[in-house]
Amino acid sequence: MGRVDAGAPAAVGEDSVPDRTHRAAADPPALELTALSHRFGDVCAVDEVSLSVFRGEVVCLLGPSGCGKTTVLRIAAGLETLQGGRVSIDGRPIAGDGVAVPPEERGIGLVFQDYALFPHLTVGENIAFGLRRLDGAERQARITAALGGVGLEGFESRYPHMLSGGQQQRVALARALAAGPSVVLLDEPFSGLDARLRDKVRDQTLHALKGSGAATLMVTHDAEEAMFMGDRIAVMREGRILQTGTPDELYCHPGAAYVAELFGEVNRLNAVVRDGQVETPFGPLPANGLAEDVAAEILIRPEALRLSQAPGTPVGRIVASRMLGRTSLIHMSITDDAGQDVHLHARAPGRFLPEEGEKLSVALDTSQAFVFPQKSIK
Ligand code: ATP
Repeated sequence: MGRVDAGAPAAVGEDSVPDRTHRAAADPPALELTALSHRFGDVCAVDEVSLSVFRGEVVCLLGPSGCGKTTVLRIAAGLETLQGGRVSIDGRPIAGDGVAVPPEERGIGLVFQDYALFPHLTVGENIAFGLRRLDGAERQARITAALGGVGLEGFESRYPHMLSGGQQQRVALARALAAGPSVVLLDEPFSGLDARLRDKVRDQTLHALKGSGAATLMVTHDAEEAMFMGDRIAVMREGRILQTGTPDELYCHPGAAYVAELFGEVNRLNAVVRDGQVETPFGPLPANGLAEDVAAEILIRPEALRLSQAPGTPVGRIVASRMLGRTSLIHMSITDDAGQDVHLHARAPGRFLPEEGEKLSVALDTSQAFVFPQKSIK
């Protein structure tokens, strides 16, 4: 899906990276955040954050604990008073520019970590709570449709304590979607679920959100979850958005070492730029525009290293091989041109377990090797 954030910078700050998606948008974004800034005393929690979410799109805000994700969501919802910037829904300002629409009038559906269902109300009554303005028949039709949308037909009379965690989460989602909001905000909605259930509920949630056509902004600190759920991902660090793009763009074209590492383990090599290149045991790589004599680091994904018995250089000496299920992880040692031993990890699909001490040639898929200055954001 991936679209450019119309009219607003997708990324900000000196070290930030522009959005690589460049599709024009005919409609205004369903949710548009423009230059949001927010402080808690001395703490700058959100720093000039701009982001747009279009109808039918799921965008994930990804970053470590404390980077400001929840604060962005709370500002959009109206749960935090806007200090700087603007929030618009369907092209209409709802906060900023002298406007402050109260949370319940923003047309936003909310799902937070703890589901927060009313324990003394049935599932049907919990969903009906946001539909008080509708007449009885219309309200009932919405409740039935909302429960159907999350696969919980027939659960209307149950109380929350009679439901599993996953079912409670789906009721919370049904409640958020029942009123037909144009925007849905989710804050770590799967964090209370165990790993096995989480996969299933994520899948059901994605289907329900896509079925609703709402614009979704979801907060998570889990990169794999962001890749599963998001049409696009905005990577946050210390209150700023560093890079926005599709999961594929962020994984294959990270704009900073920090982004590359967020999406999976990397091998790290150091080199100095000479003649527009950096030297590696696999031969020279383009220096990614870095100036001469700059100290660079080369990040290589383990799956970019291919081991084979065919003759070739460099040669990797196997230190250990481990079966991890869907992939095998191979620890190896390579001697570089300076005679130094470099320890690298390779990852191969399926079962591939060379013997300790075995010597194999190693080839590099250069599309999975990234060159950054050593001072780059980590
Ligand atoms: P987490 O994933 O742990 O929820 P987050 O990325 O959502 O983290 P926020 O909750 O937005 O981060 O917090 C951003 C920063 O603002 C943190 O340094 C946090 O301690 C601070 N902060 C958040 N809420 C408040 C508050 N009500 N009062 C003071 N400081 C706050």
